[in-house]
Amino acid sequence: MLTLDALTLRQGEFTLRADWTLERGRRLAIVGPSGAGKSTLLNAIAGFLEPERGRILWQERDLGDQPPGRRPVAMLFQDGNLFPHLSVAQNVGLGLHPNLRLTRADRETVDRALERVGLAGLAKRRPAALSGGQQSRAALARVLVLRRPLLLLDEPFSALGPALRREMLALVREVTGETGATLLMVTHDPVDAERIADRISVVAGGRADTPAPVAELFENPTPDLRRYLGL
Ligand code: ADP
Ligand code: MG
Repeated sequence: MLTLDALTLRQGEFTLRADWTLERGRRLAIVGPSGAGKSTLLNAIAGFLEPERGRILWQERDLGDQPPGRRPVAMLFQDGNLFPHLSVAQNVGLGLHPNLRLTRADRETVDRALERVGLAGLAKRRPAALSGGQQSRAALARVLVLRRPLLLLDEPFSALGPALRREMLALVREVTGETGATLLMVTHDPVDAERIADRISVVAGGRADTPAPVAELFENPTPDLRRYLGL
């Protein structure tokens, strides 16, 4: 279970509050207007931003004293997930060992992850020699080898067209189903939220709302969600 306990986050003048829990294995969509604090929330969970008040817990353990690399968290950013001077396999291998000293078993893990995301055979390519969709798959493989129980996606597929994006989200849904990972995914597309997630949190007005069942919330949207959807 992920617990945001009376959390207050601050970035300059901006403040965001959250006070809720998310059960393990859930897939949460985070929606809300630009600048509402969606990235701020993920960055705090990943350990890149220290809370002003409150605590973040995973399985009842306070993450406060754990640096980003030690947290049970893997995060995909909007862009810049791959190093251009490294091959696809090396980029994925970085998830295992930042110094890239990989054992044979590590290399097999990398190969399996590449296979899982449909990139078998492209291991030696540089990111520039991949299509946008293939780059997204490589970035996903890199977080998969980390085997972390919490997967944070900050609109990582927003540069893809709708068809490719949905394909990637379906793949994320499949692999999180296989590994039992808990997913938090920022998206600005309500259709994506409905397809991929089972819970949704609206971030608006300085608050990240308690996750609600997706169908329930879309049937009966809060004022913030109505405003966001333009209803
Ligand atoms: P979202 O991801 O929902 O678009 P962000 O979490 O990136 O929103 O930003 C939330 C607010 O925090 C915005 O008003 C933004 O201007 C502010 N902000 C983000 N990063 C910083 C920073 N490093 N210093 C000051 N303010 C920031
Ligand atoms: Mg953002």
